[in-house]
Amino acid sequence: MPSTEDLALQGDDILLFEDESVTARALSQTSVPWRVLVVDDEEDVFMATAFSLRDSEIDGRGLELLQATSARQALELIAHEPNIAVVLLDVVMETPDAGLRLVERIRAMPGREPLRIILRTGQPGYAPELDVIKRYDINDYKTKSELTQGRLMACLTVAVRGYHQLVRLQAHQRGLEKVVSASGTLVTQRHSLQSFAEGVLTQICDISECQPQGVVVLRKRERQPGETQGQVVAAAGVYRDLVGESLNQLPEPVQQCFAQQLGGAVGDIGGFKTVHIRSSGGDELVVLLTAQAPLNDVTRHMLEVFAINISLGLDNVQVFQELEHLAHHDVETGLRNRLGFRRGLSAKGAWFAQVQIDELEDIRGTLGEQVTNQLIAEVGRRLEQGLGEGGRVARINGDRIALAVPGSGGDALRQRVLDLLSQPVAVAGVEVRLPIAIGWSEGAASVTQAVDEAGLVVSRLPTGRQLRCGDWTPALADEVRQRVRLLSDLQDALAEDRIEMFLQPQLRLLDERVMGAEALVRWRRRDGTLVLPAEFIPMAEQTGAIRSLGERVAEKAVLALASWADPVHRISVNVSIRQLEETGFADWLHTLCQRHGVANRRLRLEITESAFAQDHSQVQDTLAALVSHGFELSIDDFGTGHSSLGRLVELRFQELKIDRSLVCAIETDARARKLAAMIVELGRDLGVEVLAEGLETPGQLLQLRDMGCVLGQGWLYGHAMPQADYEFRHGLA
Ligand code: C2E
Ligand code: MG
Ligand code: MG
Repeated sequence: MPSTEDLALQGDDILLFEDESVTARALSQTSVPWRVLVVDDEEDVFMATAFSLRDSEIDGRGLELLQATSARQALELIAHEPNIAVVLLDVVMETPDAGLRLVERIRAMPGREPLRIILRTGQPGYAPELDVIKRYDINDYKTKSELTQGRLMACLTVAVRGYHQLVRLQAHQRGLEKVVSASGTLVTQRHSLQSFAEGVLTQICDISECQPQGVVVLRKRERQPGETQGQVVAAAGVYRDLVGESLNQLPEPVQQCFAQQLGGAVGDIGGFKTVHIRSSGGDELVVLLTAQAPLNDVTRHMLEVFAINISLGLDNVQVFQELEHLAHHDVETGLRNRLGFRRGLSAKGAWFAQVQIDELEDIRGTLGEQVTNQLIAEVGRRLEQGLGEGGRVARINGDRIALAVPGSGGDALRQRVLDLLSQPVAVAGVEVRLPIAIGWSEGAASVTQAVDEAGLVVSRLPTGRQLRCGDWTPALADEVRQRVRLLSDLQDALAEDRIEMFLQPQLRLLDERVMGAEALVRWRRRDGTLVLPAEFIPMAEQTGAIRSLGERVAEKAVLALASWADPVHRISVNVSIRQLEETGFADWLHTLCQRHGVANRRLRLEITESAFAQDHSQVQDTLAALVSHGFELSIDDFGTGHSSLGRLVELRFQELKIDRSLVCAIETDARARKLAAMIVELGRDLGVEVLAEGLETPGQLLQLRDMGCVLGQGWLYGHAMPQADYEFRHGLA
């Protein structure tokens, strides 16, 4: 309930309230009178005063006279009647200075500072000293005989206006204190939009001293004409269930109020108060309260100050929200990212999956990054919509999407995801069916573990054009443990220099002259036994350990070349695609050769056919840099079907190595023979050497010589052997 004092502040449009109800009825124009207390021990002074002030008005409001006949009674009245504007006080009562003592007591009373005091005395001799008047903030001092009706009114008018002014100032001050403390906490603390809006609603109710009953609507800046009008972010009282609703779902009167709003910060429309808090970005929070009273000037002003102050808080909340959003979402697709996926998610009772879209590299290469991102976003959105409320979808890295779906119905769920993913997707206006691999995991101890398990399943699935899926199994877990152990052993071997370079001779078939050797890596265990590349190269490639491994072999090869007297004998080194993906690789290798005085062309680099066919631009750049440094390239395992012939023509290379699978079949399989012959032919056309690898029998040698194949490597001539054996056998040491 507003106090009578507040009602008094409402000036011309005075309203009074019936208990807590929101309906207000207008009072007659001047019905809140100024209250004047007459303190005098002589009864007839009161009568005379009342008589002379009858029907008087000050600034449109009547006067209500209260009476006290002793200082004590006066004190009681002043303590219990809050809105006394003026005290007409007799100085001499019970004692000659009873009036002055009373003034002292009144001035010590908290909350009564605005009250004005006019001293009256019958005996001029009892006039108080001037400093008493100043000290006790006494408005006026008159002898009773001085106070004719006209002069009394003049004195009262000045005092009443002084009182009114002070009341207004006090209200302002109280309001400002509230605004400062309310906006202080709201602006400085980290809030979600909802808790901020709730705080704003509470503070506005507090400032305007009304029941919390209203809504806070966030209206976004109109980004396109006719866009959504707004959404309730906080609500109280009868409206409390409306949070989350959009504006057009709110009760009719509220909507009408919104429709009528003008541009100001504070409004008073058809039974509602509105306060607009505008962010610098153009969005606004509109607070709408059911009005219990029309706004008085002070409250309006306070709310305006509050709205301006708090807009900084809204900015902060929005920046905070934006940062939150950025931290948890993928910028390119708008889907959640890995962090957003994990946030608040439990592994219990949920199925997890990783989805890999297989041909994204090709699409990226031909149609660009933007189309690729649109496609990932499209697949993600489809999954989000298809899985509904409980599901969660995120882009966790490049081409992988993670899913989490609560529930136990594994088969139905997997079918649902398969159905969603088997629908074609529009890529640059064309409907395509994407090759997709899905790995599932259920029952993991944590979300991270579940996602990792699902990811591992994906990377184990065979490649292909169709939709493929698989589940995490305990056997896979064992395999992972073994791989982890293998990786750690490999790292030990690198640190302890138990990585060796074996050499296998490469000969000119025509005269069987050894031209050089291929470096093949071997890992020697502490017990002296050897581990072959097939056991650790795939794992090293997946984990990136291949980079240090490859560097070690290259260093050994360059050192060997530097130590040999023969200036043309060369070594072919296998280079993994993971090494080619590194920006500084070509320069590093060049520097290595220079440092040991080895001509770059003596180090031939074997690159698998599949690496050559890569779209990856860094791989292409590294290959071009290697060529420009004068390294010779050899295409390994050629004939296994990954090359694009177009690419072959684009890049300079010196050698094609016919894959062992073809060589070993040329005696028995006419197609293999034909294919090998075609490769030899292609080499001749391109002006490059062709080397047959895995040459085991004299029959194969004859065939290859017949075709015109220039070089060969295989057990027919020698196995891969330790460097020292090779050097001894070929007189290089
Ligand atoms: P690759 O580069 O195609 O090497 C040829 C493989 O065939 C070698 O196996 C070699 O020992 C084997 N081989 C040679 N002649 C014959 C033969 O007449 N008959 C048969 N059945 N096999 C023969 P290895 O040494 O086990 O190497 C396997 C693969 O491991 C290599 O295939 C290469 O891809 C990779 N690798 C070996 N060393 C390195 C290395 O230092 N770095 C990288 N990145 N990969 C390496
Ligand atoms: Mg090789
Ligand atoms: Mg090979």
